[in-house]
Formats: sequence, C-alpha cells, structure tokens
Amino acid sequence: MNIIKLHDLYFKPYINKAKLDIIVNHLAKQVKADLPKDEVPIFVGILNGCFLFAADFIRAYKGNCEISFVKLASYEGTSSSEKIKNLVGINEDLTGRTVIILEDIIDTGATLQEIYNIFKYKNVKQLKVATLFFKPDVFKKELPIDYIGHSIEDKFIVGYGLDYDGLGRNYPEIYQLTQQPKMKNIVLFGPPGAGKGTQAEFLKDMYNLVHISTGDVFRFNIKNETELGLLAKKYMDEGDLVPDKVTINMLKAEVEKNADANGFIFDGFPRTESQAEALDAFLADKGEQINAMVALEVPENTLVTRLLERGKTSGRTDDTDETKIRNRFNEYNTKTAILKEYFESQDKYYGINGVGSIEDITKRISEVFDKL
Ligand code: AMP
Repeated sequence: MNIIKLHDLYFKPYINKAKLDIIVNHLAKQVKADLPKDEVPIFVGILNGCFLFAADFIRAYKGNCEISFVKLASYEGTSSSEKIKNLVGINEDLTGRTVIILEDIIDTGATLQEIYNIFKYKNVKQLKVATLFFKPDVFKKELPIDYIGHSIEDKFIVGYGLDYDGLGRNYPEIYQLTQQPKMKNIVLFGPPGAGKGTQAEFLKDMYNLVHISTGDVFRFNIKNETELGLLAKKYMDEGDLVPDKVTINMLKAEVEKNADANGFIFDGFPRTESQAEALDAFLADKGEQINAMVALEVPENTLVTRLLERGKTSGRTDDTDETKIRNRFNEYNTKTAILKEYFESQDKYYGINGVGSIEDITKRISEVFDKL
C-alpha cells in the first residue's frame, strides 16, 4: 500500500484489507449471535459509503436475511456538516421486522439521529445499529450504537466505500488524511556493475539526498566483524542475496538514522518484491513514498567485463570470480528484474541508457530527477 492523492489531498495507508475482513466478520458474528435462531432480519445500508461494507457484511452473515439501502448524506468535503439531506429508498413494509442499520462510519451522530427519527414511525419490532467505524472523540449524541466494528481517532479517512469529494471509494483498504510528502526518494536500479554507486555519489550532492547502499552497509559490517557482517558474508561471498528479513531491518535502521533527510537514494535496495513491498509500507507509514525508480540499462556482457575490471582494484571478493559474478546476475534476473514491472505498474519506472561516460549518464539521470 502506498500514499494516494485524491483531488488536492494526500492519504496514507491506515487499515489493510485483512484487518477489515476480521472486523467485518466479527461484527456479522456478533449480530447473528444476538438474534433469535429463526429471526430473518432486514439490514438497511446507509448509502453511499456503506456499499462495500454492506456487501462484505451480508456475505459474512450466516443466516437468512434481507437487505435494502437508503440514501442520506451528511458529508461535504472533509468536515462533517450538521445539515442532513432527505431519506430516499425504503419501500418495504417494516412493520414487525427486526431492522439492523449498517453504517460505514458514525462521527458526530447527526446522521444517526436522523435515522432514529425516521425509523421511530415505522412500527418495527426492534431497531439496531451496526457501524464499521466510530469516532468516539466527536460523537455528541446520547444515542445507542449496538455494534461497533472499530473505533478510530478523529482524522478523515477514505477507501472501502468512503470518499473524499467523490473519489477514493474503490480502494479496497482504508487510508487516512496526511500531509503532502516532503521527501524525494529514488530507487537507483540496475544489475551489478551498472554504475549505481558511482552515480549515487554525484547525485546525492547535487540533490542533497542521503545515499544508502545496502551492499556498502554490509561490507562495512563485514569489515568491522559485526554479527550482521558475519551473517551476510556467507551469502555475499557466493553472490547470493542476503535474506530479506535481515536486509529489510538493516535498511529501516539506516533510514531512521537520517530522520531529517530531504530524501534518499536507495542503491541496491529493493532487490526482491518483498523488499519493495516492505519499503513502500515503511515509507507510507511515515507519510512518504518512492518517487521514482531510475534504472541504468546496460547489456550483461559489458557488465561482466566491467566487474572483472573493477575486481582488480575494488578489493571486492565477489568481483573477481566469473562464476560468482554470473550467480549475481542469476539472482538479479530471477529475483530483482521483476521490480521493473512493480514500479512500472505505479508509473514510477524510468529507464536510462547506462552506457556512456560517467558525466553523460549523470546528465541523463538528472533530467529525470528534475522532472520529479
Ligand atoms: P552490491 O554492492 O549492491 O552489489 O551488493 C553486494 C552483495 O550484497 C549482493 O550480492 C548481496 O549478497 C548483498 N546485498 C546487497 N543489497 C542487498 C539486498 N537488497 N538484498 C539482499 N542482498 C543484498
């Protein structure tokens, strides 16, 4: 999950689909447990916000039931207004029925008040209210709410049926209002030997960014014989990837060390899909995001020559043995190359011709950076 932009505002991931499923299933179970065995309730969903919640709720409800919808809007923009519009929709005779209102969110309680007023005259057997979300800090009424899925703080949310000025309803998860992202975060991408490290050294100064090379951090740890270094060494020596969990935790620690940064150049990370997902989630949690993946595209044979050449002076053991170099390419092609699609699908992939002089390539990359 990533930061999303709807109209002029930014929203960060807040509640994922798995958690929503748990909340909705639990609500459906509770409602069922409180009803007499043969009771056929009629669920009344309050549109528009409840449509996804209601759809999931009735599928989780194990028993016969009916469903109907009414429309009654109370939101304008991001602040709840006290003005309530008219009710449209109920045609059924509700006399003697058990009616259970399905609300996506209850905040001030103004809509809820209106619902109680309307259903007072319908001669129902009983009226109950189930809400997916509840904002306890702003609820001003003395009205019963029978079932609450999840209490949340008083911040505007969208997704899973809820909108901001018409947009956002189609996202399967819940997002929360956040500030505009402040950082510029770039993934510098490419196979081993593509020149990521060399380019990052120039770009970090040009754009005042912090350069994190996971390979460098591992090598630093190996040199200093830390626990992490000892662990990483056996993978690196073979040209294998270090396990994701180790690498992800290390990367997070490096980012946390530079909390005031304008942004980061990630070099050599992410290298697997699960690293990419972890990075997205980690940044989104801070209200930040990856702006672009800038990929240096260089043919493999050129790279092997480059690496063997570099191995003569770099002191890197993984640069001297062609078999190990080939294994690094194999790791790249099987686990890392797919990240092109991952970032392409987010419209964030920028391929750069990585063959040429260092200055020319820096220029090509900076043209992309300047556009972001
Ligand atoms: P590099 O300096 O980027 O070429 O990385 C050298 C070696 O460090 C790789 O061959 C891996 O063994 C390890 N490594 C660096 N970054 C990662 C990563 N993101 N995930 C797993 N292993 C990594």
